[in-house]
Amino acid sequence: MPAEQVLADLHQMRAGDLPTHGGRTMAYVYDSGLAGIDELGAAAHALASSANGLDPTAFPSLLRMENEIVATAANLLGGGAGQVTSGGTESCMLAVLAARQARPDVDRPSIVFPVTAHAAFHKAAHYFNVRPIAVPVGDGFTADPEAMRAAIDDTTVLVVASAPSYAHGVVDPIAEIAAAAAEKGVRCHVDACIGGWVLPYFARLGVEVPLFDFRVDGVTSISVDLHKYAYCPKGASVLLHRDASLRRSQYFASAAWPGYTMLNSTMQSTRSGGPIAAAWAVLRHVGDDGYLDLARKTLAAVRRIGEGLHRAGLIVLGDPVSTLLSVTSADTDLFSLADRMRERGWYVQPQFAFQNSPANLHLTVTAANHGNEDLFLTDLAGAVADATPVEVDTRVLDGIDAATLTGEQFGELLASVDMSAGMAAVNTLLAAAPAGLRERLLVEFLGRLYTS
Ligand SMILES: *Cc1c(COP(=O)(O)O)cnc(C)c1O
Repeated sequence: MPAEQVLADLHQMRAGDLPTHGGRTMAYVYDSGLAGIDELGAAAHALASSANGLDPTAFPSLLRMENEIVATAANLLGGGAGQVTSGGTESCMLAVLAARQARPDVDRPSIVFPVTAHAAFHKAAHYFNVRPIAVPVGDGFTADPEAMRAAIDDTTVLVVASAPSYAHGVVDPIAEIAAAAAEKGVRCHVDACIGGWVLPYFARLGVEVPLFDFRVDGVTSISVDLHKYAYCPKGASVLLHRDASLRRSQYFASAAWPGYTMLNSTMQSTRSGGPIAAAWAVLRHVGDDGYLDLARKTLAAVRRIGEGLHRAGLIVLGDPVSTLLSVTSADTDLFSLADRMRERGWYVQPQFAFQNSPANLHLTVTAANHGNEDLFLTDLAGAVADATPVEVDTRVLDGIDAATLTGEQFGELLASVDMSAGMAAVNTLLAAAPAGLRERLLVEFLGRLYTS
């Protein structure tokens, strides 16, 4: 097939996706709104995507770019030595791995984190055979430092806090948590995947941002995603350790086979130079002043949208200090509201009730939302007016058990849900399922999506 035809097909397929520009997709994507950024990232990506970060001596350009990216992140976050990884999940998982590997003396290692920490920490626990100790949070959805302190024991290899949490956009009391960890000689990771490239600029703009970086005693590692508020192409994050000695246990070497001695700094072995070069190019081009300006726009947008939600009678959960808002309502069906917004060209992300957190809609606000805040709020008001609860017979879940679910049962369940009017029916049903069953149902669903 001719190359032009292949690309034409790709263009056509991409047209069916959620838009990645213009601020209309308020999860998954981050748009600076700056002209030329995507083209620059793509050009740099293309220049380096055939190079392999597996061997930094063979591709010194990648080594140099990675060192420069990490230095820029360290400059923003109070120091440290680190690595570029493929994303936030890899950064968080490596922080857990490094902490576990540094404590071979601990028999059944555990990690302590607030329930609001990103699910990447459950994933790390699952992959690395570490016990997850998830500590409930208080009314404002920030970590409870006393409860965290009490959860640390002889098996704890890492304590985690978020700056901010993804679900509510609130910053945990990092100083108290890091102090508790340090007292017990345990590492403390700050997950600043989503906030690390924007909160320092918010602070410079006068926002009261609690200290969350290496200026806080006891913080031993920080993750910050480049593909979020550094607006770089996807596939780039940074994991910083307070110093290079703490990083050593993250590295992996193996001479136990007849091939080249494997030497890896991250979970990947072959590592595309594409995301590294793309991130390096975008960071250089936007620069410190550019990020400050983007943060100014984002701050204006998040404030205006937050006030508008309040005026519309919706409730913003917690006291978000960042770029994320989660909204709930006592009298509007949120799953229906999400569908009505989708009809109006906006994607907002449903989050299910969890412990003290009610069902809500998550909004990731980026610089591209600045200028169209009122459009969003007008559409939201219309969507609120049109939102009506869907009738779903949740009794179809009766007798369905996560441990014994069969493909046939799942098929029947799927067939019973009317998705013609949107996702509300599915979400209402999933919301009625206990967490373990919801996980199981979604895994089954994923297996059906991947048909090959
Ligand atoms: C996005 C995010 C992650 C995971 O990052 P991915 O790039 O999606 O793997 C981890 N923690 C927080 C707080 C995040 O917002």
